[in-house]
Amino acid sequence: MTTVHDKARAIIEEHGTRDIGRICRDRGIALLYLPLGRVRGMSNVIGGRPVIIINNRLDDFQQTVTGYHELGHVVLSHTEQSRITLSTSRIAWSLSRPLEFDADVFASHFYLPDEYILDRLEEDFSWYDITAGFGLYDSLSIARLNDFEARYSERLCELARRWNDDPDS
Ligand SMILES: [Zn+2]
Repeated sequence: MTTVHDKARAIIEEHGTRDIGRICRDRGIALLYLPLGRVRGMSNVIGGRPVIIINNRLDDFQQTVTGYHELGHVVLSHTEQSRITLSTSRIAWSLSRPLEFDADVFASHFYLPDEYILDRLEEDFSWYDITAGFGLYDSLSIARLNDFEARYSERLCELARRWNDDPDS
């Protein structure tokens, strides 16, 4: 079964980049940066063309996260299911929670790639420190951990062996 994690990795691989501007251009998605008040971002299909709007008043990291979140809605076809997706507060998100969670999982692969996590684990950072540093909330961090363990079980076993052999490191 193809998971949201697989889908995110496939998109990154397909485009050979994480650059949202290039990905949107390649996929025919209109990408706009506008002031949206309290709304973080939105995505919709207008005249058959997907449109992503990001609130340009957010800080750079939040614009990045929001852009990937909205890209997730478009790529995972949420825009067709719910016509329009708005990202505002966590409370509003709970109204369409499964779709919002999937978009968050999708987005996390772009700003927190597997390769980055592997490198940090090699440097003995804990999973919690790595994911908390990127603002991943608990259920999102656990979803990434489950996917990570399934995908990199051998590497994780090697790391565990190393930590056991050298408990002071
Ligand atoms: Zn959303």
